[in-house]
Amino acid sequence: MPKYNSDKKNDEIQKLKLEILKQKNINSKLSSLLNISSIIISSLDIKQVLKSILEQTKILMECHISSVLLVDETKNQLYFEFLTNEEEKEILKDIRLKKGEGIAGSVWESKKSILVENASKDHRFSNKADQKLARQTKSLIATPLIVNGRVIGVMEAMNKITNSFFNESDLKIFETLANHAASAIYNAKLYEMAITDGMTKLFIHKYFQGRLVEEFKRAKRYNRNLSLIMIDLDHFKNFNDKYGHQLGDEVLIKTSQEIKENCRSSDIPSRYGGEEFAIILPETGTEASIAFAERIRQDIEKINIKYHKKNIHFTLSAGVSSLKTNNPDSTKDFIEMADIALYISKENGRNRVTFYKKKYYNCFKNKT
Ligand code: GH3
Ligand code: MG
Ligand code: MG
Repeated sequence: MPKYNSDKKNDEIQKLKLEILKQKNINSKLSSLLNISSIIISSLDIKQVLKSILEQTKILMECHISSVLLVDETKNQLYFEFLTNEEEKEILKDIRLKKGEGIAGSVWESKKSILVENASKDHRFSNKADQKLARQTKSLIATPLIVNGRVIGVMEAMNKITNSFFNESDLKIFETLANHAASAIYNAKLYEMAITDGMTKLFIHKYFQGRLVEEFKRAKRYNRNLSLIMIDLDHFKNFNDKYGHQLGDEVLIKTSQEIKENCRSSDIPSRYGGEEFAIILPETGTEASIAFAERIRQDIEKINIKYHKKNIHFTLSAGVSSLKTNNPDSTKDFIEMADIALYISKENGRNRVTFYKKKYYNCFKNKT
């Protein structure tokens, strides 16, 4: 074959290869977009939603870093709600941006996307996050997350892998992503609000009941451990009468924080009623659930509340029931067992944890 023809053929093969690569790239981007759509439809867990969106963002935008900042409505500030990893979020947790501050703040103010080729040369760029993370932002793309005309946050992608910068075509994809992200975050937030008690930030009673039925069925079917703790603050009526309702509310908030801090992510802490709490502990047996309740009791006992320069304390009583030891037939029985154990804690002088035993049943029925 003459050399001329062979070169031409090679050129054509190269072109074809490039075309295939381009197509592959488009296909992988399309599949990423589809992934995101399915995440949005299938999950109401805000952490899960954001994690998936940011992972897909990195693939689609071919970049090293992606993050979501949300608007804190009460303080009128932007804060980092989600980064590619949890450690970074912890490092950046104190950073707050005002409207107009930094690229993210400018996007929030103008409600318009911003493309930056080199952050260090852009006067709007704030290097607060870079300094804390000891990294250098070069190229950057930021777009507002808008729901019903209001900016709820800002999404950013940084440092294109190829060392080049983001272009107009990246921007189109990024804005589509941001639209998806905004509705996903909004839906997840609405859901979170619907299942969370406003004051204590624990789950509401109805959510607790639903989850208990689910966990009970699952644990019975697969012969897994499951425990339940019912908690009631001691002499709380007196507390309110003596120190006022506002300090009472503070106690409820402190108790809830303490409960939350002791919980694993799989535990389900809820506000059962006024000053009553219930915690579902999946995969937790008798000993561990008693130890868990005891830890909370001791932590609460140590809390200092200031009242007219005086330190005041409060206590709680708890009742524990566990599936494999107590063998309840229904969730109703399961709750009743923990409730009876709690009643026994009160009877025995309060500020204690009691594990349910059959003999307590008659004791309870005879007295009530
Ligand atoms: P015991 O040790 O037997 O549990 O006594 P107690 O006084 O805690 O029990 P009781 O059920 O009689 O009183 C519960 C009190 O909890 C009465 C109510 O005013 C208070 N309470 C319920 N919800 C709230 C709330 O949201 N905020 C405040 N501050 N108090 C509340
Ligand atoms: Mg009560
Ligand atoms: Mg009480």
